[in-house]
Amino acid sequence: MASYQDAANYQHEISLLGSTSALLGWDQETQMPSGAQAYRAEQLGYLTKLQHSMLIDEKHSEQLRSLAEDSSLSEIEQVNIKEWLKTTHRASAIPSELAVELTETSSHAMMAWQAARKENNFAEFSPWLQKTVSLKLREAEAVGWTEHGEPWDALADEFDPGMTAESVSRVFSPLRSELVTLLDELRGAPVQPDTSFLDQTLAVENQKPLVREFLQALGFNFDRGVMAISTHPFCSGFHPNDVRMTTRYDESNFSDAVTSAMHECGHALYEQGLPLDQAGTPAGAYNGLSIHESQSRLWENQVGRSKGFLEWALPQYKSAGLANTELNKAYSALNIAQPSLIRVEADETTYNLHIMVRFELERLMLNGELAVKDLPDAWNQQYRDYLGVTPPDDASGCLQDVHWSMGAMGYFPTYTLGNLYSAQFYASAKKSIGDLESQYAAGDFKPLLQWLRDNIHSKGRQLSPADLCKQVTGEELSADYLLDYLRNKLRPVYGLA
Ligand code: ZN
Repeated sequence: MASYQDAANYQHEISLLGSTSALLGWDQETQMPSGAQAYRAEQLGYLTKLQHSMLIDEKHSEQLRSLAEDSSLSEIEQVNIKEWLKTTHRASAIPSELAVELTETSSHAMMAWQAARKENNFAEFSPWLQKTVSLKLREAEAVGWTEHGEPWDALADEFDPGMTAESVSRVFSPLRSELVTLLDELRGAPVQPDTSFLDQTLAVENQKPLVREFLQALGFNFDRGVMAISTHPFCSGFHPNDVRMTTRYDESNFSDAVTSAMHECGHALYEQGLPLDQAGTPAGAYNGLSIHESQSRLWENQVGRSKGFLEWALPQYKSAGLANTELNKAYSALNIAQPSLIRVEADETTYNLHIMVRFELERLMLNGELAVKDLPDAWNQQYRDYLGVTPPDDASGCLQDVHWSMGAMGYFPTYTLGNLYSAQFYASAKKSIGDLESQYAAGDFKPLLQWLRDNIHSKGRQLSPADLCKQVTGEELSADYLLDYLRNKLRPVYGLA
């Protein structure tokens, strides 16, 4: 008779290996000297190998399968068994020669991508992308997808449990047409927002204490977390008691440090709020990347771009040395919607259209409906149709993102799903708490954080993302909340109220 405790102890060791790798990864981006690169790769490779060999152990899988039949287990234990079975299935389903080929191909593909982008030469990357697509297809076939589904689903499930191309399309389609309409409306609006607030400079030394102050007020616990600096801000959680986040500073872009820090802080607050007594198990883990992203976007956008937040923050900017801190100017500068070519520089409205282009194109490539050589033309056509802009070259077109070269397919939609969840969750929070913005104006973010703790953070992965959404908001995920939020905010800024 298999014992739940034995299986849990075994999985605990796997999670220790995983969180140790993640810690080394964090160090690599923040502290590690460049000379340590080769040795770090060896350390990470060794830990990954150990973790993989534990995951594919047939005796352990057998134990899990027998526990899956045990109806005397608690609900939480059943969640853990189901999730452990899923990860062991995925690890065993992918033949080791395929795993090795995927890793090797991605390291070549990333180099080819870098060179191709620099030289603006898609032909240099094209054979590697072709190879990546065919290997990802083999991976999808090995893992499998449900009836009526497609290969994309098998890849996406790793990032967001239960996400399918069909479920993504269902919310993306109405979102796309309404966003395109909204952008048309804003383009012809009587007022174009004044963005001079963002043109001011602020010494980095003055930004740092300000950011720390903001994080403290939002509820980031510095006894259980660290904030560092990195080129690309990110957050890693190893345990609710050890959460690491980063931001970056630029004298001539002070706002970036704050929005990046608030974004990563949203991720960090989620990690710090996961159930401590379930740490290291699926029931205590974050609920997929879309829900994770909903937490970062909520603090960055719904909170950080609100008038209430600015009322509290602007006097502090002023003491830090910022000259122009007029509320309405700051508010409109932070709330513009302007179609552009580059995803990572896009505002919160047009960002979603950049994601849709990528989702649709990778889906077509995986289904064999778009040949890799035709990607640049298809990409440019989509940008014209959705954003009304035409990339002048592939470097600022289909070569701009690293993701596909790394083999990350099925990943992009989590960003926009995060935006959709954040708007829907925020509408529920407002309904239950009341006037959140007057609380922000007084520097009080506790009621919102507590609501997120109670309704989302403490739930770990005990429900699927789709079921969590229904439980929290009473509805399935819908595009309506994000659309309402954007329309209600942007129209007045553009003089269209
Ligand atoms: Zn994020």
